[in-house]
Amino acid sequence: MADNRVALITGAGRGIGAQIALTLAAEHTDIAVVDYSEQAAAQETLDALAAAGVTARYYKCDVSDFSATKATVDQIVKDFGKIDILVNNAGITADKLIMRMEEADWDRVLSINLKGCFNMVKHVTPYMMRKRYGRIVSISSVVGMMGNAGQANYAASKAGIIGLTKTVAKEFGSRNITANAVAPGFIKTAMTDALTEEQKQAMYKLIPLGCLGETKDIANAVKFLVSDDARYITGVVLKVDGGMYI
Ligand code: NAP
Repeated sequence: MADNRVALITGAGRGIGAQIALTLAAEHTDIAVVDYSEQAAAQETLDALAAAGVTARYYKCDVSDFSATKATVDQIVKDFGKIDILVNNAGITADKLIMRMEEADWDRVLSINLKGCFNMVKHVTPYMMRKRYGRIVSISSVVGMMGNAGQANYAASKAGIIGLTKTVAKEFGSRNITANAVAPGFIKTAMTDALTEEQKQAMYKLIPLGCLGETKDIANAVKFLVSDDARYITGVVLKVDGGMYI
């Protein structure tokens, strides 16, 4: 039997990232979970991955830290021998109207959400190039395409991911490395649980399918984009949003 593929997934300890990890594990993919908190916070996900019969290891790393991401990527390659799949999923919000948004709110969100993707791409692609194979999926947001009052920093970071993805697709395509983005709409997770009831009601009105998405809807899109069925797809933004942004 061929070796399992290896996926580095940022923010895989919980939420959408954990579901992506479990979904890829079901496809016989070993998982490097990269997260900001201590390992204990991701233990439930690590146990579920072990129960799925794949190798899963935890790496504590702040994706916004350039040298820490290099050290983490190098360690993952030492431990697993390769990285076939990179999923840039880690992300945060710090929502405020621009009138009240501080410089630190802007810098923090851009550093984690956008620079974090660059850091990972920068350090993972040399290994992928040597293997002449790589699948990169970055989690953007429909907010990056439509804008959203109170989310200037977040929307800019998610729009930036789209520009980064298209550029990565062009720079690395000749090495059989694809880069695509998934743009979730309104997905039920801790991030959206934090929204006020008023914000949620306003969002529901914008969704033709009339309901929230689930983490598995995003994970299935990622599963497709890293599969052989998507071998000729690169540079796309796949919206998974119930029609929220058409
Ligand atoms: P979540 O539940 O808040 O999880 C975010 C994950 O990112 C956590 O595992 C967190 O790690 C990790 N993380 C945060 N800062 C980090 C850092 N500096 N370095 C490394 N890891 C870090 O969020 P989610 O709802 O699953 O969202 C996942 C992705 O989907 C995000 O990029 C988000 O913007 C995007 N998205 C979500 C929605 C939605 O409706 N939920 C919609 C559109 C896009 P710790 O647990 O260790 O803090």
